[in-house]
Amino acid sequence: MQEYEAVIGLEIHAQLKTRSKMFCGSDNHSIEADPNTNVCPVCMGFPGTLPVPNRQAIEWTMLLGMALEAKIAEEFNFERKNYFYPDLPKAYQISSATNPPVIGGGLKIDVNGAEREIHLHHIHLEEDAGKLVHAKNGTSLVDLNRAGTPLVEMVTEPDLRSGAEARVFMQTLRSLLRHLQISDANMEQGNLRCDVNISLRKYDEKKLGAKVEVKNMNSFKMIERAVNYEIERQSDLLNDGKKIYQETRGWDDSKGKTLGQRSKEEAHDYRYFPEPDIPPITTRKGDENAIDLEKIKSMMPELPWEKKARFALEYGLNKKDANYLADDLDMANYFEKTLEHIGETAKNSEIMKNYAIRLANWMTSELAGKMNEISIGISEIKIEPENMAELMASIEKGAISGKQAKQVFAEMFKTGKSCYGIIEERGMKQITDTGEIGKIIDDVLEANPKVVEDYKSGKEKAFGFLVGQVMAKTRGQANPKAVNETLARKLGNSN
Ligand code: ADP
Ligand code: MG
Repeated sequence: MQEYEAVIGLEIHAQLKTRSKMFCGSDNHSIEADPNTNVCPVCMGFPGTLPVPNRQAIEWTMLLGMALEAKIAEEFNFERKNYFYPDLPKAYQISSATNPPVIGGGLKIDVNGAEREIHLHHIHLEEDAGKLVHAKNGTSLVDLNRAGTPLVEMVTEPDLRSGAEARVFMQTLRSLLRHLQISDANMEQGNLRCDVNISLRKYDEKKLGAKVEVKNMNSFKMIERAVNYEIERQSDLLNDGKKIYQETRGWDDSKGKTLGQRSKEEAHDYRYFPEPDIPPITTRKGDENAIDLEKIKSMMPELPWEKKARFALEYGLNKKDANYLADDLDMANYFEKTLEHIGETAKNSEIMKNYAIRLANWMTSELAGKMNEISIGISEIKIEPENMAELMASIEKGAISGKQAKQVFAEMFKTGKSCYGIIEERGMKQITDTGEIGKIIDDVLEANPKVVEDYKSGKEKAFGFLVGQVMAKTRGQANPKAVNETLARKLGNSN
């Protein structure tokens, strides 16, 4: 049995969420609308129409490049990638892979605590094709709503080594795209897609083996499964003394297998040539129509890895909670908005850290649990940050017990009602006023002289009985800690 090293590179497409399409003014947001309703002569490929590049899409591609510390080209150009398919009426796709806008760069990933940097070869910008809808009667219909939507294609170097690394890379990239707010980056919805190239080589070998490209994966889990399957399949072939030939395979999720689609001999010759209808795009200062890199730099938001570090430092969160909360922009915003509502305390103060850690605990356990139960994201929950802040303050001040907090939270999650409202409605308000509690204790002591005597003569159990009497008199609403402290003080003082 020979052990092989897996070598993996990804080709990733992310749809940019610009208002209009890549080369025309058609709506870019309603791809799911009725077929062929978000189209115009340009994206339908009518002869004689002219493409006009979407400046926003170019700026966002460069913003992504800057976030990945890549080199931004001084000049890049669009080109025609020629092929025929019914969902591509022009018979060419406008792309920019040969002379791309973004070169190099890299993304750090953390797989179970092991950090690795995965390098990118380049990022280019292109337009998507339409879709074929295969009807039951055997005919196929063309829907061009998606035709001309802007895609960034990110091509990695073959730096990944396992299915888990490929999955984590894609998850890290999704987080980045969402923090930049340039793509919904949802694999299930198809606006983040990925083809995986996999080859094997002996550990002491420098040369890369023949690669197999796997398509059709639309979840992170599928990527990991497909890579692991392919590693095993290729190992078996090599161990049997067989050769791996370059080919394209498709992932069949129900079978849990990759299946052959086409071999290298059937590969396209795309006859690339520069798009004659779009002049080269420049980023050189002073050039006419130049893309303004300074402006793009100033658009850079806080990046996920920066946010993670800040959450740990500023709020004292442990690494796991900081990573969980800062990974998702909506989650991170919810966390910080809630803290703002608590807001009576100074940033970086111990009290603020206390609140932050308590809130992080609630968000990663109770809240995450409830969201999972009904499969919703943070943007869909009914609890307003303001009410979440009320809940944290109520617990912190001992106004409700931990057990009551869970009941209140469950109702808040279900109905979106305010925390204080629920506490009021259910008469849950704890009695924490030690003056009030003291009066009740006095009554209890007066009514039970014998028990007080027992306690003083050393019967510890008598204390618990007295606490029980106070709790009964207040119908359980007295704060147990306050009752215990006040009672101990009174029994001690009356000596
Ligand atoms: P092609 O010209 O066939 O598209 P590229 O060199 O452009 O191939 O690479 C496409 C993707 O495949 C990149 O992500 C790259 O990292 C990856 N790749 C290239 N060669 C290999 C290999 N031998 N094994 C695994 N991945 C590879
Ligand atoms: Mg290529």
